[in-house]
Amino acid sequence: MMRCPICQKASHTRTSRYITTNTKEVYYQCQNIECSTTFKTIESIDKIISSPVSKT
Ligand SMILES: [Zn+2]
Repeated sequence: MMRCPICQKASHTRTSRYITTNTKEVYYQCQNIECSTTFKTIESIDKIISSPVSKT
């Protein structure tokens, strides 16, 4: 969840889609009814901390 960039209140995910395996485009709408800002983010994997493959 990403906070509203205008009022800093919580926002709802409206829709999302994967651009690549590690990158997702997410559309949000602010839950504050007086604001209702809709915005879009690009979320991506920053780092894999551990995986089954690396536990050797
Ligand atoms: Zn807002």
